[in-house]
Amino acid sequence: MGSAKKHRLVFTRKDLCRVCYTCVRECPVKAIRIANGQAEVISERCIGCGNCVKVCSQGAKTYLDSKQQVSELLKSGQRVAAIVAPSFPAEFTEINDYRVFVAMIRRLGFDLVVENAIGADLVAGEYEKIMDTESASPHISSDCPAIVYFIEQYYPQLVGFLAPVASPMVATARILKKKYGDSVQLVFIGPCIAKKAESDELNEVLTFTELRDMFKERGIDPIREEVSGFDPPHPGKGAIFPVSRGMLQTVNKVDDICEGNVVVAEGRVNFRDAVREFERGFISSHHLELLCCEGCIMGPGMSKGGRRYSRRTYISNYVREKLNKLNREEWKKDMEDFGSLDFSQSFSPADRRMSDPDKEKINEVLRKLGKESPADHLNCGACGYDTCIDHARAIINGLAEHEMCLPFTIEKLHHSIEELNASNDKLANARQALRHSEKLAHMGQLSAGIAHELNNPLGVITMYSNILKEETPVDNPLRKDLELIVEQADRCKNIVGGLLNFARKNQVRACPTHLPDFTQNSFESIIKPDNVDIKLVNRMDNPITSLDPEQMMQALTNLEKNAVEAMPQGGTLTIELSGNEDEVEIRVSDTGTGIPQENMEKMFTPFFTTKKPGKGTGLGLPLIYGIVKMHKGKIQVSSNTDAEKGPSGTSFTITLPRNTEI
Ligand code: ADP
Ligand code: MG
Repeated sequence: MGSAKKHRLVFTRKDLCRVCYTCVRECPVKAIRIANGQAEVISERCIGCGNCVKVCSQGAKTYLDSKQQVSELLKSGQRVAAIVAPSFPAEFTEINDYRVFVAMIRRLGFDLVVENAIGADLVAGEYEKIMDTESASPHISSDCPAIVYFIEQYYPQLVGFLAPVASPMVATARILKKKYGDSVQLVFIGPCIAKKAESDELNEVLTFTELRDMFKERGIDPIREEVSGFDPPHPGKGAIFPVSRGMLQTVNKVDDICEGNVVVAEGRVNFRDAVREFERGFISSHHLELLCCEGCIMGPGMSKGGRRYSRRTYISNYVREKLNKLNREEWKKDMEDFGSLDFSQSFSPADRRMSDPDKEKINEVLRKLGKESPADHLNCGACGYDTCIDHARAIINGLAEHEMCLPFTIEKLHHSIEELNASNDKLANARQALRHSEKLAHMGQLSAGIAHELNNPLGVITMYSNILKEETPVDNPLRKDLELIVEQADRCKNIVGGLLNFARKNQVRACPTHLPDFTQNSFESIIKPDNVDIKLVNRMDNPITSLDPEQMMQALTNLEKNAVEAMPQGGTLTIELSGNEDEVEIRVSDTGTGIPQENMEKMFTPFFTTKKPGKGTGLGLPLIYGIVKMHKGKIQVSSNTDAEKGPSGTSFTITLPRNTEI
C-alpha cells in the first residue's frame, strides 16, 4: 500500500507559517523540515495523519484538494457512488435528519449514496476470524491508513504483523463493484487525509471539510433539501467503527480488553508507544488495535474545534436509531452474499528510517548549542523535539536548525543585546567627544584671536612699564606703582601664553625621551603634602618615546598638581606608564574628590575652575589639552562620584603616538 502512494498529501503555506514548531512537535514521524526559518513537509516521510493540519493555528498546513477532480467526475456522465464514512453524524450535527444530508449529496450529482459501515461490518468478520483462534499470531490492525504507512515506513520489520485485511473503505468499494458493476465510479467521503492515498480501487477521496465547501459553492442548503435514504446495502453495527474501540465493538471483542490480549492505542503518542513496546517484545503476544487519531471522529478532515465526547454521542445516537430500524433479514443476506468476496490486502515495507548519526557528531552539535554536559540538556521541547539529542540528530539529518533551540537563541539574543549596548555606548561616547572637541576648537579660535590681539599691546605695556621702572629712582613713590604695573602685565602675559597654548599656536620640539625617568623628574616640580603618596607604575617594554620635554613637563605637572589639590585629606597619586609599538599611555590617577557628572562637559574649557579666586585660573587643563593635541595625541578623563559609593577619584589618560612627526 505504501509503495502505491502517489500523492503529496500535506503542504505548508509558507506565507502563513509563523514557525512556532507546533507541527514539528505534533508530527509523529518528524516529516517536517525547518529550513531558513520555514516549515516544510517532506512528502516521502509524511504518513498523511494530518496532525499538523489539526494543530496549526495559522492554517498554514493544507492538504491535497480533490474537489476539482470530484466535480469533473460528477460531470462525466458516469455512474458515481458516494461512500460516506460513518463519522458523518459527528460532523454534520446541524442537520437533524440524516436523510436531508443524503439528499444534499445527491444534489451534488452523485447517483448513489452508500454507507461505508457495510464494509466495516464485513471487515469485522475477517478480524473475528484471525483473532478467534487461540493460537492466532498477534496482528496489528490495518484499518487506519496512517498506521499502515507508519509501519511500512518506520517499522518495516513489522509489516508481516499487519492484519492482511482490507480497510472498511476498500471493502465497501469491492462490495459496490459487485453490487453495481465494475463501471461504477467511487468517491469516499470521510474525516481522513491519509485515505486520499490509500487505494487505487477508489477514484477519489473527499474530506468532510471539502464536502462542506462543495455544498457551499453550489449553494446546497439543508433547509431546502428533500429527504432521501441511503442506497443499499445497509450496514449494521459497523457504523460504530469511527469511535475508538469501534472495531472491537463491531466484532464483539470488547470483553477481551479485560482479558488483556488486545492493546488499544490511539493518538500520536500512544500508538507510537504501543508499536515500540510491541517491537521490543513487551507486548508481543497481543493484538494491536491502533488509530492515529483519537478515533476517526477526531480526524483532520473534520471541522476544527469539535468535542470528542459529544461527537461520540452523536455517533451512538445515530447507530442506536439505525439498529432499531434495521431489517435484520436483509442485513444477514447481504453479509452472506458479500461474505464470499475477497477482503484480503497485502502490504510491503517502504523503509524511510533515517540513519542514526554517530555519537561524536551528535556531541559536536550539542556543544554548538551550548550544551556541554548532560546537565545542560534541558529537554524543554520548545524546538518540537522531545530531547536535545533528538534535536541534534534532526539537525545532522538536515531536518532542523540550531536556532530552534530556545535557550540557545535566548543566549544568542542576550549576547547581541550586550554587543549592541556596548556599541551604543561607544557611539554615544564618540558623539560626546566629538561635540566636546568641536566646542573646544571654537573656543580655541576665539582664544587665539583674543590672545593674538592682546599680545602686541601687552608687549608695549610690559616694555614701557619696565623702562619707566628702570628710570625711576628707588625712593620715588611712583616706583611702587610701576612695579605693580610690571607684575600685573607679566601675569597677563602668562594668561595670554596659556591661551595660545590651548589654541595650539606654539611649536613642538619633539625629541626621544626616556618616559619613566622623565616622569620621575616631574615629581620634583610639585609640592607634595605629607598625606599624599606618589606611586609610579612602569609597564613599558620600550621606555623611549618622542615628545617635547618642556611642554610635556608642563602638562604632566599640571595634572599632578590638580590631583594633589583634589586630595585635601590625603590619598595616593598614581602614574602608570604603558605602551605598545605605536602608542604610549600616561595615566594620572588620584583618590580624591572626583568630578561631578555635570562638570565633565566643562573640563578643558578655558577659565573653568571650581577653586577659590586666586587659587585657580582654569587654564591648566586647556593648556594640557593644547599640548596633547599638538603632539597628535588624545586625553580622556574618567571619574567616579557615584553618590552611593562615594567619590573614588579621577584619572586622566594621555595617549601619544610614539613617533611624533611634527
Ligand atoms: P584649575 O586647577 O586652575 O582650577 P584646571 O584647568 O587645572 O584649572 O582644572 C579645572 C577644574 O577641573 C578644577 O578647578 C577642578 O574642578 C577640576 N579638576 C581638574 N583635575 C581634577 C582632579 N584630579 N580631581 C578633581 N577635579 C579636578
Ligand atoms: Mg589646575
